[in-house]
Amino acid sequence: MSEYRFHLQKYRYGSKISCPNCCKSRCFVRYVDEEGTIQFPDTVGKCDHENSCGYHYTPRKYFRDNPDVLSQPDGGRADRRILSRAAGRETPHPVPSFISADVVGRSLSHYEINPLYRYLCQTFGEEETLRLFRLYSIGTSPKWGGAIIFWQTDRSGQVRTGKIMLYDSATGHRIKEPRAYVSWVHSELHLPDFRLRQCLFGEHLLNRATSAPVMLV
Ligand SMILES: [Zn+2]
Repeated sequence: MSEYRFHLQKYRYGSKISCPNCCKSRCFVRYVDEEGTIQFPDTVGKCDHENSCGYHYTPRKYFRDNPDVLSQPDGGRADRRILSRAAGRETPHPVPSFISADVVGRSLSHYEINPLYRYLCQTFGEEETLRLFRLYSIGTSPKWGGAIIFWQTDRSGQVRTGKIMLYDSATGHRIKEPRAYVSWVHSELHLPDFRLRQCLFGEHLLNRATSAPVMLV
């Protein structure tokens, strides 16, 4: 099979559809079959919002999940409607995948190489910074010599993913030059068939019996 047989659809007006993961409109590019045999369901494609959403369901993954499609003489056309209906049912609420508590737990240390931790220690002091990092479940990644992980823990205490970002320990600002240093734990771990469904960072704190105000930024 040619490597180039399946590719992202070239842009033309109206070709982008709503993303099945983040549900934003006109940001989702579908994959197409150059030979016109296989019509992928509308969940096979890539979201433009690489950082905030990150959804990318490739033909390779699709064939792995649906091994029968390639072996059928019509390329799975008969199954197409069933598959796309099934995919339609799955979205917009696909069952999310989670990061194991073990992985999260191991990241909640090594703050001495965590640039934002070091910066905040100068501002708030170490005791208060540690309290906040524990409260918000903030981890450390070895990436780029030490970066922060903002774990997205949902209200049931399950971790949806972690956003890895690089900060300047002297200024407390994000490092965006020569590029934005942003990654995701589920990408770094190469978890197979990971279904990303983000939640708000800090959402787990909503379970606490408290009258504290909630601010969304
Ligand atoms: Zn999206």
